[in-house]
Amino acid sequence: VEINFTTKKGEVIDITEKIEELVRRTGVTGIINVFAPHATGILMLGENEPHIAKDYLRVMENLVPTQNNWEHDKIDNNAAAHLRSALFGVSTTIPVINGKLQLGTWQRILFVEVEGDRHRRVMLTWVGSK
Ligand code: ZN
Repeated sequence: VEINFTTKKGEVIDITEKIEELVRRTGVTGIINVFAPHATGILMLGENEPHIAKDYLRVMENLVPTQNNWEHDKIDNNAAAHLRSALFGVSTTIPVINGKLQLGTWQRILFVEVEGDRHRRVMLTWVGSK
């Protein structure tokens, strides 16, 4: 199963509720993997709060500056997005009990758009029993 959505550059999108709904329907106990099949996006766990969202983007800019004479920019002007995606990752695995994600109080599933405006999808697969 998967969800689809559109993004704008620099958006931090909380997809927790959409994932929770899909997980509820599985009724599974086990682990669920949430995976974004994209080379220029980020899927991560974190707090969803506007200030920390800006801080996520700032730390990405500090670690991987947009302009740094990246080699990939010679052929496709989006090296920073690829590098941030590779560093921060595009998947996470979460324990599930009876169709309920076992996230911490402030843990949310976030998609961070580090490329341009895009159509994105996030897939869910799981291992477990009912
Ligand atoms: Zn590229």
